[in-house]
Amino acid sequence: MIDWPQVRAQFPILQQQVNGKPLIYFDSAATSQKPLAVIEAMDHYYRWDNANVHRGLHELSSRATDAFEAARAKIARFVGAGTADEIIYTRGTTEAINLVAGIWGAHFLKPGDVVLITEMEHHSNIVPWQLAAQRSGATLKFVPVLDDGTLDLVAADELLTAEVKLFAFNHISNSLGTINPVVDLCRKARSIGAVTLVDGAQAVGHVPVNVQDIGCDFYAFSGHKMCGPTGIGALYCRTQWLEKMPPWQGGGEMILHVSMERSTYKSGPARFEPGTPPIAGAIGMGAAVDYLESIGIENIAAYDDELTQYAMGRLQELEGIRILGPLTGKRGSLAAFTLAAAHPHDLVTLTNEQGLALRGGHHCTQPLMRRFKAPGTARASFYFYNTRAEIDAMMDILNDAIRFFS
Ligand code: PLP
Repeated sequence: MIDWPQVRAQFPILQQQVNGKPLIYFDSAATSQKPLAVIEAMDHYYRWDNANVHRGLHELSSRATDAFEAARAKIARFVGAGTADEIIYTRGTTEAINLVAGIWGAHFLKPGDVVLITEMEHHSNIVPWQLAAQRSGATLKFVPVLDDGTLDLVAADELLTAEVKLFAFNHISNSLGTINPVVDLCRKARSIGAVTLVDGAQAVGHVPVNVQDIGCDFYAFSGHKMCGPTGIGALYCRTQWLEKMPPWQGGGEMILHVSMERSTYKSGPARFEPGTPPIAGAIGMGAAVDYLESIGIENIAAYDDELTQYAMGRLQELEGIRILGPLTGKRGSLAAFTLAAAHPHDLVTLTNEQGLALRGGHHCTQPLMRRFKAPGTARASFYFYNTRAEIDAMMDILNDAIRFFS
């Protein structure tokens, strides 16, 4: 049995008041809070082990290198990668996708090719492909989203033609909460020879993820959404592509030999990690994996799901509410909604006065907001440190807001 109040107590930030009210932090889909274990791991690194990695022969450098590489191995295991080398450190999901769109796109896309994405993508899984398409002459196509917030799988089948060279889609939508059938989508893409990239920003740390079971070529995720620090994330890159992709950015660390005319490059993730990496960030992300594993990702997923189902039930009591995405069944631990009484920005500004942190806006999914004719939404997103009591408190605040605006 997990002692959830004890778990919550590990997040010092949650113990504060905001605007004279107990903080209710319902913005974990934007960034999660950090437990003491992560804060302390980074503090320890800076107090005792701070040195550059891979270069020094002295004690601190070897300690820093060991911790940095141990974190890579933990992250690899956490997402089921075949080897630690298949994990490339990036600044986050956005940079991971840009890396693939930049290098893979430049090397393997040509005029006439199609890159297929979906209408429910975050801007970070749209714009890099627009740029890659513009550079290569490839065409960008979208799988539409149905009214219930799920992907139109019939249209997806029709769109997966021989011209599709890459299919990129999210694992869990940050605006709809939809959990996509990633295994099936990857299988379908594979059957026509297309490469797959999964945006796992909202999945890793929330649900068990195994990239080998999913069968994707690339899987992108961010440390800060899974209890780790900002400025660090990862790209799972199937070994086959590690070897085939040329470098992205040039600099120290990624080379074997440099002459004035040319250079040779390291193999493995080092080839894509030029310069001094975010060492403390990587160590913090590794500590986040340890922390999540100490609770158990299955336990976290079950807790998140129960809380989300409770929130979905309660939110639907509200007058004039419209919730985007599936109303029944499993969904990601978030609910984006509009209220007839108020514009999302006004609503979120008002709830902030009551210590309730919701997010208001388009959540970096403007095409999706257009698809649902929503000016934006308010979004409540949950994690295992939240409670039912907080959801009840949110309901009181939202009911007050409806009265205020009506
Ligand atoms: N993809 C999805 C589905 C997201 O929710 C986010 C962040 O909200 C991102 C990508 C971008 O993540 P980051 O800003 O950490 O690079």
